[in-house]
Amino acid sequence: VSISDLVDESYRRIGEVEEKVQAFLTLNEEQARVKAKELDDKLAKGEETNPLFGLPIGIKDNIVTKGLRTTCASKILYNFDPIYDATVMERLNAAGAITIGKLNMDEFAMGSSTENSGFQLTRNPWDLERVPGGSSGGSAAAVAAGEVPFALGSDTGGSIRQPAAFCGVVGLKPTYGRVSRFGLVAFASSLDQIGPITRTVEDNAYLLQVISGVDPMDSTSANIPVPNYVEALTGDIKGLKIAVPKEYFGEGVDEGVRQSVLAALNVLEKLGVTWEKVSLPHSKYALATYYLLASSEASANLARFDGVRYGYRTDNAKNLIDMYKLTRSEGFGNEVKRRIMLGTFALSSGYYDAYYKKAQKVRTLIKRDFENVFEQYDVIIGPTTPTPAFQIGEKTSDPLTMYMNDILTIPVNLAGVPAISVPCGFVDGLPVGLQIIGKHFDESTVYRVAHAFE
Ligand code: GLN
Repeated sequence: VSISDLVDESYRRIGEVEEKVQAFLTLNEEQARVKAKELDDKLAKGEETNPLFGLPIGIKDNIVTKGLRTTCASKILYNFDPIYDATVMERLNAAGAITIGKLNMDEFAMGSSTENSGFQLTRNPWDLERVPGGSSGGSAAAVAAGEVPFALGSDTGGSIRQPAAFCGVVGLKPTYGRVSRFGLVAFASSLDQIGPITRTVEDNAYLLQVISGVDPMDSTSANIPVPNYVEALTGDIKGLKIAVPKEYFGEGVDEGVRQSVLAALNVLEKLGVTWEKVSLPHSKYALATYYLLASSEASANLARFDGVRYGYRTDNAKNLIDMYKLTRSEGFGNEVKRRIMLGTFALSSGYYDAYYKKAQKVRTLIKRDFENVFEQYDVIIGPTTPTPAFQIGEKTSDPLTMYMNDILTIPVNLAGVPAISVPCGFVDGLPVGLQIIGKHFDESTVYRVAHAFE
């Protein structure tokens, strides 16, 4: 097959299913076809060997793409056409990947169901009455529906792993600092990471390989060599020691999910690993800590959307202050406003010590929980989510039950460690995700275990 055939196949499939799934916000069809032709010519001359060369990819709409609309699924950025590429886009373009389009998400990545998109509802390809998860719901749904073989998402508190689990695909949140955030529209800068969503672990490793590594444009990117992730997929996991936190099987975790994870541990045991129960005692504080810290950072990051610099500006203002207020009231959705208000409150003088500073201290305790366990074990394993995909509309009226869905993914972001979700079974016909958590910068072991299990 030619690269043009691959790109044709992506758009053919999009034409077939997109009316139902609604994963894409913007398509890049004309440009993608031009690039496919160019790459076919190069291929004919035998010029290229890169494994991603010519492969179609979908990009979450909070990653800036030069000349291709980038909205974060927010009305406030409805017309924003970036004048530069995110570092991950530069790297993908250099490797010959072809951008098929931009994918739906919760507005500014705030949510767990993609229902907070300012534009459209994405549906779970396994059951169209259910959510695809979020916030990278468009990315996971597009891969699950066969619209694209590769996608990028972002994960601040579970937004790659949770939708991957709900849609039965593979999603990895890299170690904080592994992948440059330059050009990722910031939600909570100390937690955000871009990562790959794919159908297989091997594809995932190829994609991470391309986007990883230090970047002078992001001072939080780590200057640590990038190992060969694909070579790590040896199939041999004999002798590895796995920790299973008892806190990840607590109240609210569905019995079917529990059984699927225990069955997965059985399979791993047959492959030669040993596992033991451990405790991550501060897990119960993770949700509260996350919502204080993520919202505080968001309230500062989102101050830049003021009607002057980018995107939407109200027509109804009589003076400057009015213009700021009305632009933001009209442009942001309810969940984004809720976070900005919570964050502004937590950072305000008189409350800062009680909320923000306290949350930072608890974050350290949560990080130490992981460090203690990793002194004796190679990976930590549990479910990715307490339940399989829920019904559309089921949790929209109660933010707290929506937040609870990320109770097993959020501690990982607070600790900054890498974690993958791989499919590990079904409950009532809906996919279940197995979460494998690794040491800082040890994506290789995470992949090796996921690949041996898959
Ligand atoms: N669901 C979580 C939130 O709403 C996580 C989002 C994310 O990882 N981007 O904040």
